[in-house]
Amino acid sequence: MLTAYITHPSFERHEMGPEHPECPERLAAVADHLLMKGLMDCVQPYQAPAASREQLLRVHTAQWLDRLTATSPSLGHVPVDPDTWMNPHTLEAARHAAGAAVLAVDLVMRGEAPHAFCAVRPPGHHAARAQGAGFCFFNNASVAVAHALSQHGLSRVALLDFDVHHGDGSEDIWAGDERVLLCSSYQAGLYPFRDDHQPASNVVLAPLPARSGGALAREAIARHWLPALARFAPELIVISAGFDAHREDELGNLGWVEADYAWITQQIVAQAKASAQGRIVSMLEGGYALSALGRSVAAHLRELLD
Ligand SMILES: [Zn+2]
Repeated sequence: MLTAYITHPSFERHEMGPEHPECPERLAAVADHLLMKGLMDCVQPYQAPAASREQLLRVHTAQWLDRLTATSPSLGHVPVDPDTWMNPHTLEAARHAAGAAVLAVDLVMRGEAPHAFCAVRPPGHHAARAQGAGFCFFNNASVAVAHALSQHGLSRVALLDFDVHHGDGSEDIWAGDERVLLCSSYQAGLYPFRDDHQPASNVVLAPLPARSGGALAREAIARHWLPALARFAPELIVISAGFDAHREDELGNLGWVEADYAWITQQIVAQAKASAQGRIVSMLEGGYALSALGRSVAAHLRELLD
């Protein structure tokens, strides 16, 4: 059985204007690097379906879904927040990015793939229940979590977020819901400018100082995430896999390298084997330095192939 690799052609048509870092070239950089390294031969490719309204309503309000539909332009770009713009293809891409999450959960829960990696954009972890933000429209990883809880009868799902930015949208959706353990590492003082207090007992935060490097991140994850994960014993692990903590990425300043992503993924794989029959769904979030993004996804994916 091969790890599933889920993507969709609509992701290339969503763009937020010239110079925007969350650009279509990101996914091409990932695919090119995986091809070059022979990793595309080691995965089973799938096309993402579009998420249904019902699947999106598990994590978003009807008002937000309706506002996106009403805002969707037939020409040009319109903003939903200062960083987050829609073009005529955005809504389709966002629906397929969330649909990738649904398919990924179905594949790993049915035992048709041990793990799934979703090469998607727009990303999702800043999308809150009632509002998109920070390049995100639908919270893809949360759609995966909600689908696993409601359709596959799970009672404990872990959502792990190692993007350089805190996943405030995921926190908005899951804080206080004891069926979900949300662990987030992020650069302190960076967008979305969170104050680092723990909002609920099911949220584990590992804020990291700027320029702190991969060694400190590993120590923080080992100290904060891993014991909480072992206690929680998730039946499925969903990853908000952002690669913008890489030292070459200008949107963050944590100084991680590919080996750090490999290490974090190894820890997640070990926990998944211990409590979740190995089941992992990984959703691409950030990562804006194109070469570093391709290399980092490869390092992450290699650990998911075993
Ligand atoms: Zn990010």
